[in-house]
Amino acid sequence: MDFGFTEEQRMVQEMAQNFAEKEIAPFIDEDEKNHHYRREILSKMGELGLLGWSIPEEYGGNGMGWMEGVTALYEIAKVHTSWRLSISGNCWGPAMTINKYGTEEQKAKYIPDLVSGKAVGSFAMTEANSGSDVGAMKTFAEDKGDHWLINGTKMWISGGHVSDIGLLYVATEEGGGPRGLSCFIIDYNNTPGVTRIPIHEKVGMWPAPTSELVFENAVVPKENLLGPLNRGFQICMWQLNNTRMGCAIGAAALSAACLEGSVNYANERIQFGQPIGKFQMIQQQIAEMKLEDEAAKHMVFKAAWLKEQGKPSQQETSMAKLFACNAAVHAANVAMKIYGSYGYSTEYPCGRWLRDAKQFETLEGTSNIHMTIVAGIELGYQPNR
Ligand SMILES: Cc1cc2nc3c(=O)[nH]c(=O)nc-3n(C[C@H](O)[C@H](O)[C@H](O)COP(=O)(O)OP(=O)(O)OC[C@H]3O[C@@H](n4cnc5c(N)ncnc54)[C@H](O)[C@@H]3O)c2cc1C
Repeated sequence: MDFGFTEEQRMVQEMAQNFAEKEIAPFIDEDEKNHHYRREILSKMGELGLLGWSIPEEYGGNGMGWMEGVTALYEIAKVHTSWRLSISGNCWGPAMTINKYGTEEQKAKYIPDLVSGKAVGSFAMTEANSGSDVGAMKTFAEDKGDHWLINGTKMWISGGHVSDIGLLYVATEEGGGPRGLSCFIIDYNNTPGVTRIPIHEKVGMWPAPTSELVFENAVVPKENLLGPLNRGFQICMWQLNNTRMGCAIGAAALSAACLEGSVNYANERIQFGQPIGKFQMIQQQIAEMKLEDEAAKHMVFKAAWLKEQGKPSQQETSMAKLFACNAAVHAANVAMKIYGSYGYSTEYPCGRWLRDAKQFETLEGTSNIHMTIVAGIELGYQPNR
């Protein structure tokens, strides 16, 4: 087992750190206050190759894989976890899935813009009445001979109203459940019949846009079906096994940010004539954060390593997401206590950490759903894919 970074990973780490410090950190307060999404950050990520992990170079990929991608996302998410969504939303979501299931024409047409940051990507499965129960989705694509006609509404779609290219999962078989779903590539700038509504009322992730997408007789070309008809559920699960890594790393990075902040604060804040870090109860809080932070990081990198080797990784991905999410929520909660009243002030990041940490318990599979995946594989009820 080698726990060290390769030369390439070290280079990527330094580049991502510099990028996040220069392009994201200076705008955090302003973007939080205004719930502002900066399109230009995505473009700059694309220019630096930060959106092209595990994508063939002929489609604009950066020639590097999961280990480097995870390293980069970790550094970016440590500064602000909202920006992890750009890597998931462009690279590990649509680009990687089109690369796996797409035709040569689809790959050549869509992947280069997603990895260069020219296009904003997204993926949409959730509906108002279909979250964990993906197979219950009602948005329907009807085969009209020379095109598909799509009707229905998607909810909670990251990047939905700013997206140029997105994966859309819909039903194509009346009453077919998971066996009647299909996946389409949507070119949002050229699809009539789609209304996109921003969801502003969110607890956290303020600079990351979230949307409702309404499809009313939306006309989609025949050639935009991704993969075989009625195989959308398998495609969706394959995609989630990749994009969930974004949540796992984002949560691990957030837990690291809370720990780093808390250590600095505990060394600076003087009470009873000494830094509060000298008090045993603060030390216990720091020790618990450190233990969870370290374990989360290891689980995330192990899942990435399995993916890099092409080995089954579903259970490890779910474990990493579940554990890192618990670590992030715990660390954010403890950080706010260690910072005392200043933790409750919006001038310090504790409130943002806590708000942003809570998302991980829900999106891309709730904690309960990840428990069922971990247990189901362990009990032999389903294979580890
Ligand atoms: C900020 C944000 C961004 C998002 N981005 C996207 C996106 O880009 N694309 C997208 O498609 N979706 C996105 N989502 C939606 C998200 O993936 C869903 O909200 C999530 O899958 C949970 O679905 P739900 O909210 O309908 O909860 P429900 O499925 O209704 O679950 C409610 C509760 O019941 C529990 N529960 C449900 N089923 C079971 C079960 N079988 N066993 C035990 N407990 C169960 C859940 O754990 C949860 O506690 C996003 C959500 C948020 C908040």
